[in-house]
Amino acid sequence: MEYEAIIGLEVHVQLLTRSKMFCGCDANYQDAPPNTHVCPVCLGLPGSLPVINKRAVEYTIMTGLALNCQIAPVTKWDRKNYHYPDLPKDYQISQYDLPLTFAGHLTIDVEGRPKRIGIRRVHLEEDTGRLYHVDGRALVDYNRSGVPLIEIVSEPDIRSPEEARLYLQKLRTIVRYLGVSSGDMEAGALRVDANVSVRPVGQETFGTQVEVKNMNSFRSVKLALEYEIERQIGVLRAGGTVVRETRGWVESEGRTVSQRSKEEAHDYRYFPEPDLPPLEIMPAWVDALRRALPELPDEKAARYQREYGLSAYDAGLIVADRLVAEWYEAAVALGAKAQPPISPKTVTNWLTGEVFRLMRERGQDIQALSLSPAALVEVLGLVANGTINNNVAKHVVRDVIESGKAPTQIVEERGLRQISDEAQLAQIVAQVLDQHPDEVQAYLNGREQVAKWLMGQVMRATRSKANPQVVMALLIQHLEARRSS
Ligand code: ADP
Ligand code: MG
Ligand code: ZN
Repeated sequence: MEYEAIIGLEVHVQLLTRSKMFCGCDANYQDAPPNTHVCPVCLGLPGSLPVINKRAVEYTIMTGLALNCQIAPVTKWDRKNYHYPDLPKDYQISQYDLPLTFAGHLTIDVEGRPKRIGIRRVHLEEDTGRLYHVDGRALVDYNRSGVPLIEIVSEPDIRSPEEARLYLQKLRTIVRYLGVSSGDMEAGALRVDANVSVRPVGQETFGTQVEVKNMNSFRSVKLALEYEIERQIGVLRAGGTVVRETRGWVESEGRTVSQRSKEEAHDYRYFPEPDLPPLEIMPAWVDALRRALPELPDEKAARYQREYGLSAYDAGLIVADRLVAEWYEAAVALGAKAQPPISPKTVTNWLTGEVFRLMRERGQDIQALSLSPAALVEVLGLVANGTINNNVAKHVVRDVIESGKAPTQIVEERGLRQISDEAQLAQIVAQVLDQHPDEVQAYLNGREQVAKWLMGQVMRATRSKANPQVVMALLIQHLEARRSS
């Protein structure tokens, strides 16, 4: 029997507000010494009262709008009660039955076809503190306690680990475009819990779901899902039943292990937060936020296809990172003003080819690469006006990154100007033909592809600086001349 996987993701995203969710403490705790960003509110001291962070509510609404969600006209806060040392109040302020935003979707591209993944809800809550284990002792740092956190819950519409990866990447791209979160999984700013079940292909009803936790990279989400799907199929094939439980991904062992069963599941005893009033969301406020939304990745990709004639594939590659998209648009604008103009297509080819290769090779993002849009356009201008050829241009781009010098300066200092002078090139061509009589004979006997090899020899003799079109024309001319003599 064939089985298919059903996956639903619960993603927690930390918001990039200046202050915490319910107090004035600095929310940027990443490099701070432990317990320095704390106050009576986020330490849960008796008598302290929470105050709602307006910016956090706005960021949640913006995220909801970007995910095609509805915005609740009235929302409220609820206490989620449980006992754990990283939770000083013994409850987390969250949203239970009236989430701020709900019923949306996000579109992923599955092998060239768009697929909608439903978004059940996006609600706002507060983060917990963190436990550290040092020399057998548990230490707690409350700097993270009370940092605003949104939880984005998908519908069970995801059908494979690859679709889960596409969904997460798109989600991260969107929160980064909005500027509401760093989306940085390594820094814990984006955390994923995965619900997964399997069912025989053709069966309508879902199988029993298992919640998998503890993945801290996109790669571990993929590995954990692959493992868990195989495990559940194995259980069913062996005639067993999948148990509803929470399992943890153990990265070092490459497997999931049972953490707690449904019977041991927390009863959170949710009840309305008595210290905060329900929040009425005025339509005018939502409208203003909607108008202020930046151009989102899907819209941007559509515009690149429409205005610049890009393929859907290239457009998708470029919009996946907002900084890359901004870099690209700056380069296209400069290219349009250049003399002769550099086409968006040329900029696209260089960005998705050579520049992406350099980013991968050096493990740097576009900002760290220190290649400005202006520098690339300058290099392309040198190609367009015949000063250098395409091959040399690649070396110049590399040199710009390594030396920080301007392209024109590099070309002059290193003597990289293209040789287009026919008399000079004709001399080199004649020399190369004299040095390789066997190859010349082979060409004359009908092996025309030898011309390419001879071309390589000429390029080598000119340290790649020769104008390839001129060389090819001269080569054919000289070879043919030798046929008649
Ligand atoms: P709970 O309230 O117990 O956490 P929910 O039904 O609310 O469970 O769903 C939580 C998450 O699990 C959602 O992301 C949802 O899409 C996903 N989910 C629900 N049922 C299944 C299933 N049978 N298989 C996989 N994922 C599921
Ligand atoms: Mg859950
Ligand atoms: Zn505080």
